[in-house]
Amino acid sequence: MFDVNKIRKDFKILERKIWDGKPLVYFDNAATTQKPKIVIDTLVNYYENYNANIHRGVHKLAEEATTAYESVRDKVRQFISADDSTEIIFTRNTTESINLLAYSLGEYLMGEGDEVLLSEMEHHSNLIPWYLLKERKKIQIKFLPITDSYELDYDSLKKIVTKKTKIISITHKSNVLGTVNDIKKISQIASANGSILIVDAAQSVPHLSVNFSDLNCDFLAFSSHKMCGPTGVGVLAGKKEILENMPPFMGGGEMIRKVTFDTFSTNDLPWKFEAGTPNIADVIAFGAAIDYIQNIGIENIYNYECQLTEYAIEKLKQFEFLKIYGPKEAKKRAGIITFSNPVVHPHDIATIVDQYGVAIRAGHHCAQPLMKKLGVSSTCRASFYFYNTKEEIDIFIDALKKAFDYFALGACKELKQENKEVGKQRVVRR
Ligand code: PMP
Repeated sequence: MFDVNKIRKDFKILERKIWDGKPLVYFDNAATTQKPKIVIDTLVNYYENYNANIHRGVHKLAEEATTAYESVRDKVRQFISADDSTEIIFTRNTTESINLLAYSLGEYLMGEGDEVLLSEMEHHSNLIPWYLLKERKKIQIKFLPITDSYELDYDSLKKIVTKKTKIISITHKSNVLGTVNDIKKISQIASANGSILIVDAAQSVPHLSVNFSDLNCDFLAFSSHKMCGPTGVGVLAGKKEILENMPPFMGGGEMIRKVTFDTFSTNDLPWKFEAGTPNIADVIAFGAAIDYIQNIGIENIYNYECQLTEYAIEKLKQFEFLKIYGPKEAKKRAGIITFSNPVVHPHDIATIVDQYGVAIRAGHHCAQPLMKKLGVSSTCRASFYFYNTKEEIDIFIDALKKAFDYFALGACKELKQENKEVGKQRVVRR
């Protein structure tokens, strides 16, 4: 039984009061989520009781730490339904996972004139690594457009993919629009064309059931900190046969098998891609986060977030002057609502609602090309997780009302000279 009030008791931070005693309403979950007590306790327990470096030690602590660290690998494998735990590589975050791929796949696969296909709704973390590769290898980068309904333009996929498209790298769920993309549709075209398919799952794995085998992609990247785990841990899940052929990303530590005065050989998977001492404590605590999420049930999380999204969108409709981006159906955009208004700057809105205890995000959300496509430089974004409530959405809506009231005063004066109809569209009048 999904019981949000019971769940909230696991998150001490949700008891926090902001400014002069306002309850914290945390709607910045797409940036990072809060951590339940069990995750924090697991971290402390590791440092207090069995802190040791892993793999090479023969003593008891090293053995305990190694077992705990490696058991999380299998937990991740099972969570995303990958075939084999050697296909699970720990990185620092989604960004590092994609950089690893752009570097190693770039070396292994890409030559001058080859193409990488991205989409217009990518996070900078799935843009810049490929821009860097473009500089190194003189490759071409193409973009799958988005439609007026904020979805990928699947119809143009077949036309845009060519024999030179060696890699397709697409977000599973947009951190701005909330759009959940149809990866299976893309994977059919990718496999028919022999392109490698990478999925940026930073916003999907924490919120909806993701089955790596069933998606039929080659690589999946996501971050622990967006799913109740600590910062500093990311996952790269990848097909074994491709990983085996890729050169290592970084050198040193556990990634070697043998080193001589002039050369080295690489370790087996997955350690070939885990150079240096890994983030042992945080990986172990990430395991506790996965257990926690699995206890609640990822389907319950998704359904509950859809209800919250539907409720919030309905309430936001009272502000007719707001433009809300993203697909209309809550199920296609679960948990993320991005909006803007042509008069009041998103930072001003976010600053005012913060005065009422509500944490939302304002800015370009690390998606500047998408902002350009939407015709804005920044937006506000409210993003939910399973510990949020409808009552919190009510507080958010009240805080927004206050923000708009505040700005309407100044803005209306300026707008008096303008056409009233334009004014109506641009600013709230009450
Ligand atoms: N991709 C998407 C879609 C994201 O939302 C984010 C984080 N905002 C990232 C990649 C990067 O994640 P991280 O900062 O954990 O590397």
